[in-house]
This record gives sequence, C-alpha cells and structure tokens, in this order.
Amino acid sequence: MVKTEIRKEADGSVFATVVGKIDEHFDGKEILQAADSARKVSLKMDGVRSISSLGVRALEVFMNALGDRQVVLEEISAAMANQVTMIPNLLGSATVKSARLPFVCPSCGAEGAHSVPYESGAGTTHAPKCEQCGKKMEFDGFSEEYLPR
Ligand SMILES: [Zn+2]
Repeated sequence: MVKTEIRKEADGSVFATVVGKIDEHFDGKEILQAADSARKVSLKMDGVRSISSLGVRALEVFMNALGDRQVVLEEISAAMANQVTMIPNLLGSATVKSARLPFVCPSCGAEGAHSVPYESGAGTTHAPKCEQCGKKMEFDGFSEEYLPR
C-alpha cells in the first residue's frame, strides 16, 4: 500500500510525496490526475520502504504515463535507489536529484540516513559528518548498488 500526498505549486507544477510499499496495486492515479495540465512533476520518495518485482513493473507503467512532462525525483529511498541502479531504464527520462541512503560512523558506530546527490561516488564525496562525534561517516553497504557508477 502506498500513500501519496499531492501539492500543486504556484508555478503549476505538481509535488507529490510517495510513502509505503510499491507493489502491483500502485498506479499513481491521483498523481496523474493532479498532473493533468502540469509540465513538471516532482516526486519525493524517501518513504518508499520496498518495491516488489510486480511493483517495479507498476512503477514503470506510471513513469511512462507521465509522458513528456519534466519529472524530477528527490530523496529516493535506499530500496528505490537499489532498483533504479539495477534497472536504469525504470524511470524513463526522469531525473533523480538525490537519494536518502544509510551511513555509519567508523569511529562511534552511529547510524543514520542522509540525503546525497544521486551521482557516482556520492557515497564518499558527500558522506556526512557524524552528529555524535564529528568524524566523517562511511556508506553503510556497497554504494555501487545504490548510486550510478
Ligand atoms: Zn561518530
């Protein structure tokens, strides 16, 4: 089940937050309706916990339905970043601005999710400082599974 929150911006674009698990029931219908005359759609997806294999297909159909609008994805979750990195065609011509990914502090072990630009090497170049001890945090996992090469 996915919950969406939709906001129309002053410039006519649509901003939607998507939260939950994307499965075969996902159709993004409310977003498509709200985006009817919009030229630009921004999707904030840090709340997407998981995507099932049928959900990948549903997401692909939704992205296609957005057509030639400018589509920008912000703060995609680790689950989402993992799928997008494995299946580069998944999002069509949409742009991914940033991903919210897990980091761990090598010094004190503190963990946390941080938003980094969705670009090659961002797990290192944009690693945040630990809020507990100030040391540079490290990507928690294999960053090449979540970010472009
Ligand atoms: Zn620390």
